[in-house]
Amino acid sequence: MKRLKLVVLTLFALILLWLLVGMVICVKVKVTNWKRLNEIEEVNAASYRTFSRFIDDIEDKTDWSVEIISGLRSREKQKELQRENAKNASVDKSRHVLGRAIDINLYQKNWLWRIWLKKFNSKKDWRNSGVVKISEKYGLLWGGSYRSYHDPVHFEIK
Ligand SMILES: [Zn+2]
Repeated sequence: MKRLKLVVLTLFALILLWLLVGMVICVKVKVTNWKRLNEIEEVNAASYRTFSRFIDDIEDKTDWSVEIISGLRSREKQKELQRENAKNASVDKSRHVLGRAIDINLYQKNWLWRIWLKKFNSKKDWRNSGVVKISEKYGLLWGGSYRSYHDPVHFEIK
């Protein structure tokens, strides 16, 4: 009987911990999104409005939530990225430097875990999410449409 009690208590504690971790992740994503959108707002208020609406629209109209993984980039950061991978845009070409591009991951929660859509997912997966369609409404250019570089996380203001 004592043993059973211990098992039940342990299970309960684990579930509580799981819920807590989920909440922390959720808050962390929201805070990061907020920070990254604010950085964009400081350099380009119009693009801040477009991206804010784009993200709200995704979260209202699809089952996906958004995590902004990259927003405004300094010229130094962009140079560094191009050194790492020559396919990354140069400082003069990257819209991230101007606050006119964001990279996003998408996630969906079921009762137990999260499903993610990230850079390595196919264009088809991204299209099926409905997000690409929404981006068209805002006249955004989608990185999944690049011919030479698979970049489905990227959305930019033309
Ligand atoms: Zn990008």
